[in-house]
Amino acid sequence: MKRIGVLTSGGDAPGMNAAIRAVVRKGIYHGLEVYGIYQGYAGLIEGKMEKLELGSVGDIIHRGGTMLYSARCEAFKTEEGRKQAIEQLKKHEIDALVVIGGDGSFRGALKLCEEGFPAVGVPGTIDNDIPGTDFTIGFDTALNTIIDAIDKIRDTATSHERTFIIEVMGRDAGDLALWSGLAGGAESILIPESPQDIDQIIERIEQGRARGKRHSIIIVAEGVSTAGDVARRLKEKASIETRVTVLGHIQRGGQPTAFDRVLASRLGAKAVDLLLNGESGKMVGIRNNQIVVNDIRDVLTDRHNVEESLVQLARELSI
Ligand code: ADP
Repeated sequence: MKRIGVLTSGGDAPGMNAAIRAVVRKGIYHGLEVYGIYQGYAGLIEGKMEKLELGSVGDIIHRGGTMLYSARCEAFKTEEGRKQAIEQLKKHEIDALVVIGGDGSFRGALKLCEEGFPAVGVPGTIDNDIPGTDFTIGFDTALNTIIDAIDKIRDTATSHERTFIIEVMGRDAGDLALWSGLAGGAESILIPESPQDIDQIIERIEQGRARGKRHSIIIVAEGVSTAGDVARRLKEKASIETRVTVLGHIQRGGQPTAFDRVLASRLGAKAVDLLLNGESGKMVGIRNNQIVVNDIRDVLTDRHNVEESLVQLARELSI
């Protein structure tokens, strides 16, 4: 093993830069050459790559986004596309690849492994929806961005005695909604894994009002419904007036938290260790604060579950 490549793919996440830095520095520390591949699999197919030095990844640990850019690439889902990618890797004498991304990116990485090119995965996505790891890179930062927004909205909710509905990201996974709802003291949290019907939400608001509570906050994961739709149904069914905020892409950006930087550094470094040991088809993760290694195949067949005890706790504390 002399030369490895690193790319970021799929949705960007804060902390990806810290992971790239870890891969580059750890690789160089062990005498490897590290190539940065730009624009994910799309750039790989086109051969958009260059050698990164220690200084190339200086001054990026605190920046959101990814210095290697990210992209989605339909061509990589075809055998022909991947053949071109492997040709580019061979042409540049790259022996193995680190893929930083989400489950879609790992599907691509696994295909590469099956077609004979060694690759390992580092989980980077704000959704925290990857099995085999307690946390993904970017989740903590996105969570803190949401909390910041909830706290601000709460000031207005309190002053004007209103119900606010805040829509957060999470198509299939409710972690962002659950954790932010718990940390932000939301009255109701709507997540794909544990749906509540509109009557339950109404009941909670009305119970709160009966106790003299004049405002409330409802968090909706985008995978359940839109905040606008929940607002409409509350109005139609119970004449409850609400205000809606859709946080959107601000959740993806911003300076990574210390937690995400440390996580990214540990995971990126471990990915290089795996390649140095001749391993392939693996994804690094964190479990109980220990770095762990999973088969990508298992990651792609397992299901990520929200922590049931947190769902229960949120219910108990938001009465
Ligand atoms: P994420 O990695 O954040 O889940 P995507 O699902 O968009 O993001 O996947 C990123 C990229 O990974 C896709 O654009 C595609 O190039 C590649 N990819 C996804 N699924 C596959 C697949 N089944 N086979 C090969 N490549 C895939």
